[in-house]
Amino acid sequence: MTAALRVCALYPDLMNIYADRGNIAVLRARCAWRGIGFELGASGTGESLDPEAWDLFYIGGGQDRDQAMVAHDMVDTKRDALHAAADRGAVVLAVCGGYQLLGASYALGDEELPGVGLVDLHTVRSDGPRLIGNCAIEADLGSGPRTIAGFENHGGRTHLGPSEKPLGRVLGGHGNNGTDGFEGVHRGNVIGTYLHGPLLPKNVWVADRLIELGTGLELTPLDDTLEDGAHESAKRAAGVG
Ligand code: GLN
Repeated sequence: MTAALRVCALYPDLMNIYADRGNIAVLRARCAWRGIGFELGASGTGESLDPEAWDLFYIGGGQDRDQAMVAHDMVDTKRDALHAAADRGAVVLAVCGGYQLLGASYALGDEELPGVGLVDLHTVRSDGPRLIGNCAIEADLGSGPRTIAGFENHGGRTHLGPSEKPLGRVLGGHGNNGTDGFEGVHRGNVIGTYLHGPLLPKNVWVADRLIELGTGLELTPLDDTLEDGAHESAKRAAGVG
């Protein structure tokens, strides 16, 4: 374990809609406020990935055309490293378009984008309406069930394989596919979710849990008056509590 959180952003230029890079800003700030070091690197198109060099791998959301640019490259240059990283317990956080690419495939009409197969799921682009709106789920990241609230906007419907566990149960909103009542995926320290917001500013308890998992440190509490207000507001927007 390290005294710094080392974060690697995957395709930060292509996979970053709804200000998803704000998630990294939150991780950086919450480490800094506690005197924990923070290192940020990136791995983009054509670049390899060192599975040992980072505690947390992050990929944000993307439009279908950006995902199409990323998918094959990610399989070619990063799949093996991501598997090795996940196997040694590194944290992987993937949001929306990035989440879809963690699975086996993303089918878009006649085209099928490959995923890195870190988790057993597949996504199918639907002709039906996009699943848009505020969303809240109940999730347990090892410290008891809590609420995660955010905003979803996806055309893809994600279906988990039989042995895979969702990140949470939908309290308000659509979730993975709008039908089964589940949202995201959670296996070991690999977390995928449809929730933008960005996710972490609205759910700083998730940020802290990720820092703990990535560093092995026990975190001191912060004054989260403003952050708790943002969280409550996001929950209310999703029709919860
Ligand atoms: N392009 C994907 C979809 O529409 C993901 C969108 C996103 O990242 N918000 O399903």
